[in-house]
Formats: sequence, C-alpha cells, structure tokens
Amino acid sequence: MSIQEQSERFTQVMTDFVSYVSKVLPDDVTKKLEEIRGRETGELQTLVYDTMFENQALAKQLNRACCQDTGVIQFLISCGENFPLIGKMPALLKEAVVRATKQMPLRHNSVETFDEYNTGLNVGKGTPSIFWDITEGRDDVEIYTYMAGGGCSLPGRAKVLMPGEGYEAAAQFVLDTMTSYGLNACPPLLVGIGIATSVETAAILSKKALMRNVGSRNENENAHKMEVLMEDAINNIGIGPQGFGGNVSVMGVNIENTARHPSTIGVAVNVGCWSHRRGLIRFDKNLNYEVLSHKGVTL
Ligand code: SF4
Repeated sequence: MSIQEQSERFTQVMTDFVSYVSKVLPDDVTKKLEEIRGRETGELQTLVYDTMFENQALAKQLNRACCQDTGVIQFLISCGENFPLIGKMPALLKEAVVRATKQMPLRHNSVETFDEYNTGLNVGKGTPSIFWDITEGRDDVEIYTYMAGGGCSLPGRAKVLMPGEGYEAAAQFVLDTMTSYGLNACPPLLVGIGIATSVETAAILSKKALMRNVGSRNENENAHKMEVLMEDAINNIGIGPQGFGGNVSVMGVNIENTARHPSTIGVAVNVGCWSHRRGLIRFDKNLNYEVLSHKGVTL
C-alpha cells in the first residue's frame, strides 16, 4: 500500500469505529450494567435499567447514536515509534471525526471558544483532543476513542492538597464532588481518580483511569484498597440509577497514579456516565485492525 492508500484506509476504519462507538457500549460496561440491575430491587430503579437496555437495542437496530450528546471526541493513543502513520495521525483522526459526524450523524459539539460559533463539523481549535504516549521498539498503535459528553464532563475537578492533608483529603475531595455533582452525570458512574503532583498531571491520569476496564484494579495494593473503599463510600451515598436513589451508584472506581512531590498530592476526578462510550482499537503496521473493546466486531 502507498502512504496515500494507508492514510485512506486508516481514516475510513477510524470513521467507522468512531461511528460504532457512538451507538454500542463496550463489552465490560454492558456486562456491568446487567450485573448492577440485578442488585436493585426497586420498581423505579429496575425500570431505569430496562429503559437503558431498550435504548441500547434500538440504537443498534436503528443505527443511531445511543445518547444525543455524542460529546467532544477524545483520542488516547499508545503509539509505537515505528508505526508508519505516526506523524499523520492528528490530521487523519480529525478527518475521521468530520466523516463520522456526517455519517452517523453525531451532534455538533465543537464551539470555537470566545468566537462562540459552532463549526458544525465536531472539529475546531484543539478538537478532537489527542493525548499521546510513544513507545520504543513497537510498530503498532492502540487508540482509545472516547465521547466526553457535557453531563459526564461536569463533575471533573482537580486540586493540589495542602502538605500533610494526606490520602484522606483526596478521598474527601472525591466524595464532595460526588455529592455535589455526581447526580448530573447520568449514574451509575465510572469514577476515574488521578493521583500525582500538580493539577494537569492528576487530571490526565483521571481520564486515563476511565479508559481502564470496569472491574480492573490498580496493581498497587494500597491503591487497589482505596478503589474498593471509594466504591463502597460512593455507593453508600445512595445516588442510584439516574439519581433516583438505589443500592448502586457506581460501575466502579479506577485510580491511576504516578510518583509525586514529597510534600504535595495532586488529585483529580473525572467521571464516565452509564453511557460510557469508550472504544479501543489496535492497528498493526500493515493497517490490519482489531477492535479490542467490543468482541467480534468487524467495521
Ligand atoms: S451524561 Fe452521558 S448519558 Fe447523560 S446526557 Fe451526557 S452523555 Fe448522555
């Protein structure tokens, strides 16, 4: 394949992938929602879950996005240094978003800040958002596509704690955010927490935490313990599905961390809603692809 042919194939597969992710939830989220429904006993709560499942079935059947807010598209990329399209990817992903916006269609969610006009294409200055990790010695690429809706972006907050406040203050910060804003994000939620030094390092980790599968655990024993405790604590707030109250408020709590400055803890929280449209695709150097988030899918 020439570089032009490779570029076209990559763009078209990503167009179809973004379109697909807008209507079908990833396998881990679907499985978790089914499990949580079984833990609710109230008539209203089970009705909410039944409505969610009916919504999912209709989205597939009618080939329509499963939530009206298809978000600002974000890509989190783990790219091998030898992947052939490494330098072209930002432009190709932008084009894929434009095509998917027309193809699905996706809601027009890119408003030029200060100029206050909607581009009508879902792309603009700095959108879609692209976050990179480059890996030595690899020639493939793995790309998370995520649709960050307005409601589920709303509870996002970051803070640097005063020296000595400790992990208890990080937990309190997350719980305060959940009691004040959790309701707005269409629960049950996937809660991503980032722990680092400064607000920006914590913030990107909290988004990366949302890319991890529901039910996966941080490999550090103490972080793992905090995930479990935070999950219990947020469930005990009793937000329930769509805020109607219930036994379960979260699909899970994922924590990502780095080493940090000895005197400060930067903490950030990011939230995914029940309609957590996150997809993961892998391309090899010959542009063969595999969808990792949705089993058995061919685009
Ligand atoms: S929070 Fe999620 S499900 Fe609710 S409107 Fe926003 S994108 Fe849709």
